Amino acid sequence: MSNAKEQFLDLQGKLKKVCEIAGLSESFYEIIKEPERIIEANIPVKMDDGTTKTFRAFRSAHSTALGPSKGGVRFHQSVTYEEVKVLSTLMSLKVALLGLPLGGGKGGIVVDPKKLSERELEILSRGFVRAMNNYLGPRIDIPAPDVNTNAKIMGYFTDEYIALNGGRQDIATFTGKSTDMGGSLGRSEATGFGVYLTIKKYYEKIGKSLKGATVALQGFGNVGSFAAKYLADDGAKIIAVSARDESAEAGSSAIFDENGFDPDQLNEIREKKGSVLNKEAEKITTEEFFALDCDILIPAALENVISDANADSIKAKLVVEAANGPVTEAGEKILNEKNIPLIPDILANSGGVLVSHYEWVQNITGSYLSEEEVRAKQEKDMTRAIGEVFATADKYKVTFRQAAFILSLTRIEKALKLKGRF
Ligand code: NAD
Repeated sequence: MSNAKEQFLDLQGKLKKVCEIAGLSESFYEIIKEPERIIEANIPVKMDDGTTKTFRAFRSAHSTALGPSKGGVRFHQSVTYEEVKVLSTLMSLKVALLGLPLGGGKGGIVVDPKKLSERELEILSRGFVRAMNNYLGPRIDIPAPDVNTNAKIMGYFTDEYIALNGGRQDIATFTGKSTDMGGSLGRSEATGFGVYLTIKKYYEKIGKSLKGATVALQGFGNVGSFAAKYLADDGAKIIAVSARDESAEAGSSAIFDENGFDPDQLNEIREKKGSVLNKEAEKITTEEFFALDCDILIPAALENVISDANADSIKAKLVVEAANGPVTEAGEKILNEKNIPLIPDILANSGGVLVSHYEWVQNITGSYLSEEEVRAKQEKDMTRAIGEVFATADKYKVTFRQAAFILSLTRIEKALKLKGRF
């Protein structure tokens, strides 16, 4: 992400403003405006062709005021020092909003994993754990999957960690593991289910039914496909899906059907043909997709897709940030002026880290939950957080994002104060 430096400054601006609204002190802002620690490492990998390459890696713990830092590790060529600062700060806010005994972390390696062989990828993954080992652990810092990392990489991480630490079976050091090695049931669906829950609760708040509500969804990956499924099961109509497919007809990036798509059918097409864009349906451009006259617009793919370049064209009555950071500062300003409410990422997509927290607890206690128990617990925990955000927005007459920030920052501030930090 090239403009991560700017994004970090924007985020600091938002934190400062919320501190002022909520009456939080300058000293507190001074502490949380930068991460507590950032480790930077260069990881050497002996490549298959006999040469050695080094890969730059970062791990940031933004705040450990409420507990060990927690957050994903991404493998991507555009990872930067600033990017992990932004993302770890947002993680602190996300876990505090859920009331979890955790802090915010994030990490990354500057690499295009598609260019590595399986062996090189494994060596790089193990190298990350060796570089960060002193600052990893179930009570210190708990990584998880993120962009281009998955349960398999968590398997390498866990194995290396155990080997480096005298065989201690501290599998709670990593979440997002396979269910065959301590992962939680219900994790795959968790983020999409949480996106659906936030929308359902918003509709209850405005006294409307989801039946027949029209949805435009960008991204039909893990988050988007499950969000679509739960929304459709509750009567909403998925009228447009935007996705990526390099082989698709030029200029067409979304499919449209005013009667609504069946998410199960879309899943089948994606699995068989590589992209939902291969569904026989009317094709529309990205510009047309964002300008659709619909009830709910859900960006569930990438960051920065709603900006001052297209926010003015948006006609949706609600925007829900299923992806991390899909709406830029300038884009949000325009949505606010147009009175289009926005449910922020730290609430809308928090179901993922919530169930990762359950994984951590299950690993530590050795007692495991059924899928139904996970779903019921997630619904209860998220319903509470969503209700608190709505009530805080009403109380302070602020946006849902500012309300979420107020709740999170107030919790972090209390913990720091009790620790005598200021
Ligand atoms: P994913 O890789 O499973 O899916 C991403 C989808 O976006 C894919 O279907 C891809 O085709 C689509 N896409 C990519 N570029 C696109 C473009 N230009 N236009 C339209 N569609 C495009 O990823 P995911 O796990 O679903 O994550 C999506 C977003 O949600 C990311 O921002 C991620 O950080 C965030 N998120 C994910 C989780 C989680 O639990 N998976 C948790 C919190 C936040």
